[in-house]
Amino acid sequence: MKKSIAVLLALIIAFSLASTAFAANLPASYNAVEKGYVTSVKKPGDFGACAAFSVVSCLESDYIMQGYGTKDDTDFSEAYLYWFSANSGWSDEKSGYFGDGRTYPDSTVFTVGLNDLDIFASLKTDSGIAYERDFPYSPYLSQFMGHYSDIERFSSGCNVRIKDVVEFDVDDRVSIKEWVLAHGGVSIMFNSNQYYHGDNGTVANNKFQLISNHAVAIVGWDDNFAPEGKFSNMVMSGKKGAWLCKNSWGPEWGDNGYFWLPYSDPTVDAAIGVSVYVTDECSSKYSYNGYPVFYLGSEVSDKAANLFTAKQTGSITQTAFYIYPGTEITVSIYKDAGDGNPESGEPVATYSGKYIHEGYYTEKLSSPVAVENGDKFWVVGQYSTKAPLELMSQYSHDEPEQTYVWLDGEWIETGDDPTAGNCPLDAIITAGEHNYGETRHKDPTCDTVGYDMQTCEDCGRCVRTDIPAKGHSYGEWEENGKIGSATLYSRQCSECRNIDIMCIDKDGNVISLEQANEDLSSDNSPDGFFARMTERISSFFSLISSLITTWYMRIIAMFMPVYF
Ligand SMILES: [Zn+2]
Ligand SMILES: [Zn+2]
Repeated sequence: MKKSIAVLLALIIAFSLASTAFAANLPASYNAVEKGYVTSVKKPGDFGACAAFSVVSCLESDYIMQGYGTKDDTDFSEAYLYWFSANSGWSDEKSGYFGDGRTYPDSTVFTVGLNDLDIFASLKTDSGIAYERDFPYSPYLSQFMGHYSDIERFSSGCNVRIKDVVEFDVDDRVSIKEWVLAHGGVSIMFNSNQYYHGDNGTVANNKFQLISNHAVAIVGWDDNFAPEGKFSNMVMSGKKGAWLCKNSWGPEWGDNGYFWLPYSDPTVDAAIGVSVYVTDECSSKYSYNGYPVFYLGSEVSDKAANLFTAKQTGSITQTAFYIYPGTEITVSIYKDAGDGNPESGEPVATYSGKYIHEGYYTEKLSSPVAVENGDKFWVVGQYSTKAPLELMSQYSHDEPEQTYVWLDGEWIETGDDPTAGNCPLDAIITAGEHNYGETRHKDPTCDTVGYDMQTCEDCGRCVRTDIPAKGHSYGEWEENGKIGSATLYSRQCSECRNIDIMCIDKDGNVISLEQANEDLSSDNSPDGFFARMTERISSFFSLISSLITTWYMRIIAMFMPVYF
């Protein structure tokens, strides 16, 4: 089973920073749902996607809190995040993104399940998030396996990009609360086990279960939440306080889809805060970020650089970087002087900042740097701790002339070292107006919208104009059997073959199918008896068939690590 970023990084880096944040103005309780910052509770209907649901909920909350939408009209795609997290391998020659990654075979991606590591790898790419309408989640595995191609990363025309992905120490409740106050949610993982779920939307875990297996979003808290009598199997007896969490098991589960998770639950880990920014500009990320997200910190330098070649004419406006906790970073942009020295001449723009939490941050540079298509430029990072470098693996490669580190008084290309890979130290070039090429057309169907879509030849992003659904083209009503004394009629759409059903009772009134079935069950005539027997035999067979399916799924679930 995969461990979380929080656990692994604690092992990789030899120190951890105590939280210096002070809980001056934090309320004793808070509920982002009541403020209208949280979208509706979803229900995947299959296991594996919980981390996509918790992270997307947090992205939606941040978007809502920035005033771009409401809880009712904001809906980003979990299927999109899920698919492109599992298939993070991607190299976009056009935009300058050269991320490494992995690809799951189609047959396994949606049964293995994703955790925070997978999601983190995806959030660092240039693709941002997409609208639900373009990558709708289907609860059925066979349909849900999106098979999205790389070009579809940008096809929804969604202008929402990922700004920061922040990793919290799970014991640092002050910072988690501050993030929830400012951004609406924090995604966490914990051990979810059906035997420890209370009846009233509360959850507590067996103290011997130490591996987190389920992701949810923290959307509030209550420091005075008293667990006594609410949790059946307590390790937290006598300890007050709990997180209000949004689950992804539908609104009928728990307390309208929410539950309370005690602060003292020992299995909570992988607390991630995410934020977004919105831009309509033509922009591209220059990056060598790959998968996995493990970094070397102890043996390498405190200075690293990436060399990029601009693929469009525009301005370098932002930098983005992964950083260890408690690190101060100065990023400097140098235009290539042609001698292979990242720092030759004067930096043309800089950014400096200090970060309490580890994570991946996107920041504006001191001034935009004009570049022409084909220009080379360096992004140099000076770290107060250690420069992070990707661990080389089958999913992480380092090509020549990408990443360099400052070691013993000289710049060394990491491509020569089989153990050290690229540095997550990126730049974003903004090129103003998009450069739209040919229009792609998709016909509407009876019940789905179509569109005309143009793709920008510089950044790959799209703009689309929706074409409304056509509505069904039904034929005449035809008599189609009886339910007791009621007559069943049906008609079919000549376009999509959808079948519409109507029931007319013996007095000529239109009634519902449920009503017809109810009438049948109270019909004591011989006709009614015969009709009921036929009905029961057929429902017996459908029950057997559904039981077989359920047990089959449970047997599969017993043999694999499942994030559900
Ligand atoms: Zn563009
Ligand atoms: Zn139709």
